[in-house]
Amino acid sequence: MSQEFNLASIASVLAPKVYAVDPPKQAIDSFANVEPLSRNDAIQFVDDTFSVVLGLDSRDFIVNLPVIGAKIARKQSFVLTVRISNSDYSVVPAAKDLGAVLLISANAQESYDFLFLASLLAKGDGKPVILFYKPSSAEDELTYTLDDLEKAYGSYDGSSLQDAFQKLHQLSTKTYSELELLPSSGWIATKRYDQVVVFLGDPEPIASHLKNFSVALINVKVYRPFPLAELKQLLTSKLYGYKAVQFVEQSSVSLQFSPLLLDAVEILTSISKDVKVIYSQVLKLDQDNVDLALQHLLSNAKLERPVQNLTFGREFTQPQPISFEDVKASPDNAYLKILQEVDAGVRVLNDYDTNPVPEYALGRFFYRDRQRTKLADLVEQKLHRFQGTLNDDLAQWLLWARNENPPEKYTSEESSALVATLSKSNRTAASELLQFRDFFESRTGWIVGSDSWSYDTGLATFHQALQSGNKRLKLLIIDTDSSVNRRQGKKNLGLYAMNYGNAYVASVALYSSYTQTLTAFIEANAYNQGPAIIIAYLPKGESHLDSLKLTKEAVDSGYWPLYRYNPHLADYSDMFKLDSSFVRRELKEFLDRENRLTLLAEKSAKLQYNLRTYNESVNQGIQQKSKEAFQSLLDNLAGDPMTVAYASDNGNAAGLAKRLANRAGSKGFKVRLAQLDDLSVDDDLPLETNLVVVTSTSGQGEFPNGGKQFWDALRAGTIDLANVHAAVFGLGDSKYWPRAEDAKYYNRPSRQLYQRLELLGAQMLCEQGLGDDQDADGFNTGYNTWEPKLWQALGVSAENADEPPPATNEDFKRESNFLRGTIKEGLADTSTGAMSASDQQLTKFHGVYLQDDRELRDQRKKDGLEPAYAFMVRVRLAGNVSTPDQWLAIDRLADTRGNHTFKITTRGTYQLHGVVKQDLIPVVRDINAVAMDTLGACGDVCRNVICGSLPAQRHIHEQMAHMARIISKRLLPETTAYHEIFLQELGDVPRGEEGGPKRIKVGGNAVQDAEPLLGATYLPRKFKVAITVPPYNDVDVYANDTGLVAIVEDDNIVGFDVLIGGGMGTTHNNTKTYPRAGTNIGYVPYDKAPLVCEKMLIMHRDYGDRKNRKHARLKYTIDDMGVPTFKARLEELLGFKFEKSRPFKIDSNIDYFGWCKDETGLNHYTCYIENGRVSDTLDSPHKEGLHKIAQYLKETGVGLFRLTSNQHVIISDITDEHVPKIKALLREYKFSVDKFSGLRKASQSCVAFPTCGLAMAEAERYLPQFLDRLEGELEKLGLRNDSIVLRMTGCPNGCARPWLAEVALVGKSYGFYNLMLGGSYNGDRVNKIFKSNVDEDQAIGILVPLFSRWASERKDGEHFGDFVIRAGVIKPTLEGKKFWEDVKDF
Ligand code: SF4
Repeated sequence: MSQEFNLASIASVLAPKVYAVDPPKQAIDSFANVEPLSRNDAIQFVDDTFSVVLGLDSRDFIVNLPVIGAKIARKQSFVLTVRISNSDYSVVPAAKDLGAVLLISANAQESYDFLFLASLLAKGDGKPVILFYKPSSAEDELTYTLDDLEKAYGSYDGSSLQDAFQKLHQLSTKTYSELELLPSSGWIATKRYDQVVVFLGDPEPIASHLKNFSVALINVKVYRPFPLAELKQLLTSKLYGYKAVQFVEQSSVSLQFSPLLLDAVEILTSISKDVKVIYSQVLKLDQDNVDLALQHLLSNAKLERPVQNLTFGREFTQPQPISFEDVKASPDNAYLKILQEVDAGVRVLNDYDTNPVPEYALGRFFYRDRQRTKLADLVEQKLHRFQGTLNDDLAQWLLWARNENPPEKYTSEESSALVATLSKSNRTAASELLQFRDFFESRTGWIVGSDSWSYDTGLATFHQALQSGNKRLKLLIIDTDSSVNRRQGKKNLGLYAMNYGNAYVASVALYSSYTQTLTAFIEANAYNQGPAIIIAYLPKGESHLDSLKLTKEAVDSGYWPLYRYNPHLADYSDMFKLDSSFVRRELKEFLDRENRLTLLAEKSAKLQYNLRTYNESVNQGIQQKSKEAFQSLLDNLAGDPMTVAYASDNGNAAGLAKRLANRAGSKGFKVRLAQLDDLSVDDDLPLETNLVVVTSTSGQGEFPNGGKQFWDALRAGTIDLANVHAAVFGLGDSKYWPRAEDAKYYNRPSRQLYQRLELLGAQMLCEQGLGDDQDADGFNTGYNTWEPKLWQALGVSAENADEPPPATNEDFKRESNFLRGTIKEGLADTSTGAMSASDQQLTKFHGVYLQDDRELRDQRKKDGLEPAYAFMVRVRLAGNVSTPDQWLAIDRLADTRGNHTFKITTRGTYQLHGVVKQDLIPVVRDINAVAMDTLGACGDVCRNVICGSLPAQRHIHEQMAHMARIISKRLLPETTAYHEIFLQELGDVPRGEEGGPKRIKVGGNAVQDAEPLLGATYLPRKFKVAITVPPYNDVDVYANDTGLVAIVEDDNIVGFDVLIGGGMGTTHNNTKTYPRAGTNIGYVPYDKAPLVCEKMLIMHRDYGDRKNRKHARLKYTIDDMGVPTFKARLEELLGFKFEKSRPFKIDSNIDYFGWCKDETGLNHYTCYIENGRVSDTLDSPHKEGLHKIAQYLKETGVGLFRLTSNQHVIISDITDEHVPKIKALLREYKFSVDKFSGLRKASQSCVAFPTCGLAMAEAERYLPQFLDRLEGELEKLGLRNDSIVLRMTGCPNGCARPWLAEVALVGKSYGFYNLMLGGSYNGDRVNKIFKSNVDEDQAIGILVPLFSRWASERKDGEHFGDFVIRAGVIKPTLEGKKFWEDVKDF
């Protein structure tokens, strides 16, 4: 039987109704339930019952795209089978955004199997399925009976693709999956190839030739939902060694981008950066040309810079190319290719590249239109002069030309034939008509313009085009502008056109949705009620991937929404179709006015979110306005207006501006306080009466966030500020850039702003104010002398009324009702991803920390969006031991609710990033469900209590971890707020690590809490405890407020030497801050340690500085008090005295990698995790590997994980029988540490950019690359295996404990670091600034000669940190207070 007959047989068994497009009579006769459809109405008449549509070919499918899209949008369930004509698979990506499941079968048998599969899927979840199949002329039989088929279908009750595959397997015995690997080597085997080709097309001609090449071909069989995870797994875990991955589509349409690449773009970062990513297109392939085409394809990938978007294979029979009247349009323009795809006869009326002037293009269009009208008039006059066919033909043309809404298309062939017939006529009337021969043309003409239509005269032309109401006018405007700065002042053409009411308008972005673009072009081309306008986005990035990224960013942020608007459709929901999730404010306003908002909001949960944001801001705006009106009533004719604007990085400038604004208000000014970027340079600034700006200094003398846009516009503008009175105060640090040549950076933004305002004619009220962090009272010194001058210039008293002090963290804590604040309400508020300022401080105590992606800030601000907020969630894991179940839970949360990675922190615990607000409670609950919690992981409390990982001494480790847990429990906050906010309604879900039911004390309806130990205001700052067993110091015991050094006798910990006052955080250039290594104050027996920690915490609670957070760490209290006094008071509290310190020797503060056996015979393997980031890359698929290992441990009930405080992980407690399996997994997932240098193994970094709000420079993302460079030099010096402790942080807060490293780089500004030297290898000595503000070259230039000297001059066993001190390169920091001594360059 033929393939079509077999498909019809299957369909008629599975579906109640089968439609067949132009079916042969035999089909209608053979099957009772087959209903014929004509090609022209193909999908229009498919009704709502579940049905299978047969006989559609690719071209019919494209033409029917809008109708298919509409049916899918109405959730109609059907299976559509589409015959791939001519091996041209371009039709498949055209359907990618329809929301249907897309299957591709490669041969006749597969088409039968997949029709069954498609029917199962449609039955399972009611989703429409489109099956693309390759036609086959062979006659063959089904391999199963229709009875079996029917039974299998009837018994199916699955809902997922995997269920359906399984059912298909039972029926056909064939095993299919979403991606097919060719040459077939089995899915399990891991294999090495030179190249990988991800392919969408007909694999048959290629498959048999692959054996000639070292190429893995991944053939896509399920295109939607796109099997991203499977592809990632293949590329990162199954295939290796490859140097290039090519995305290849078999398609006649060259779009200048690869839809397939677009689908996979988000996993490309998981592939090694050394792998080239290429996209290409193949045309027709057959046995004669496939070998050559493959050779070309693969050799292109071997070039150092492969050519992108090459085409291989034999040409398809092309449709008639797009034609141009008298010029050639850019052959590279992807949108013109789509026009051609939609209508091969389309005409472009202007040359977009060489003459994009809007007036010119429109002028030509109107000229043509007038000429055609003249011709129509002439035909009408002369018609009676012609008889017979010519008369009929002319009459028909006239009908078409006059009828502004022609029912039938008048074809190009018909107009050409008419001209040819007229040419043969010898009548004078024919010659007269032929003078207008070009205007018989019936093809649709498009004007193609650039975004110059959005500005000034271009906009006037656009207005003229809309006003004409011309029903033949088709306008395609391609916006290539990726520069966010130019967006200001640019008019929103789509909105402008929609307001006209009779134009079809679509906003499209090819790189975001091919289907939506294609649909819009089909609709616009067919629209005949007025002008049709498509606004198309095509940003120019440096590379193709850049353009994809820019498009994604624009669409996702709402800057470039995708929509289609047809004002002539009756139904509101049909009239405006929003094809993306985010819209900007102006569009919302339009929709609001048009009363269509509710309908849209119902359709999209995401949109609702945005609308609420908008409504919320409108409400706030209204409230603000009434407040202002009331205020103005009170003020009546009060003083002049004043705008106080600020640009602030760390809040100081904002705080100062707020204070100034309050004072101005109390002096009678009508004050507006605003961020500098919120002032429009063109619209607001010239109208200001008094403008006062307070700005801080960022990076290398740049404007801080919140002021950059304003400054760029002011610098570029030429406005007249003659009526503006202005004043500027700047905040800076005169020593931040110590080199003489860098002095220009000091307070540069404020100085530049002052000069620019003056230049533009502003009347400066007083000299510029300069605040310097180096002054005795910081920037306040300069401010206090400047502010009176400002009031004097304004003619008001300089006296300030009493002001309430600004709210501090202490106030937040005190008023929080034991850490509740308004967190619960804040989490329920879906109008914003953020929390109030006070709640942001309070959530830290619960282990969650609000952050935002700093790299998206500017973009989102320009697009009118709030920052991309997300939470960091940190687990409390006292003793740093975790079960496989706990590992798997974190791994899963990272994938489902985080950023697909997680971090092992420097306090030996888990940290998730990128958790959005609505996911926060589920994440915390899931963490608790596996007996961990997050309480006290951040905030002014005792942080995670850590202990050494000590794999070789099981017994001692148990004692130490046990002690860590006891201390943690003893110092933990008692508040029940954590449970109330995150866990209530969970019934018996245990409370984190301690287990047990939730504890809520209820008196009446009130929750009554108490904090017997911590008190209502908790601690002044954080408090850290660590335990170590010499000679190891992997916890950096000297960095903790309380460090316990275990004293071991007879294989038991008998007690601890107690180190007090360790702490890392400092502030650049602030000599009152410093890092400090703990001081040994004596020995206590084992069981006294918890009490010591408790009393230390009480000392911190009672004596810590609660006024100045920069001075609040316990280290300062101890130094201010003096160690002997502090110790005496502590002993008083304890009721006993410390014994004399016991001797101990610590060798190192690093981890030791690889296998070791403990005294009980259990095995432990320490894995190297770069900077603690558990993620998958091609070279290090560690996340997946550890997932597999955790699963194995869980299944076998063997083993645990120990998280080290150097950010690595130990797979521990493995019995001998399981070692081979673990070894195999370690091998498979590339855990070998042999490739790493001693330097890398002893390095670590903090997170820094993009999420840490305090980062001044990169750390985690940059350290590997810095080490790459340094390792090359160490190799030459023969130091590859020598261990050097090197640490990098993005700021001086010191999260990765840089101050205890032998070499450290502490971020100062983007790309610049303070280079520290002289820490000890065992972590007991703080280092010192060797050179400030070094960039990479300078750091390498300093370090390499020193390493070289160390290589030749070191004593036996002498570590680098000790050597630089002995050699006189740097002085040792003998105690924290002396950190700044001998530092000349800071
Ligand atoms: S050291 Fe600074 S930059 Fe790094 S994570 Fe800590 S606060 Fe952020």
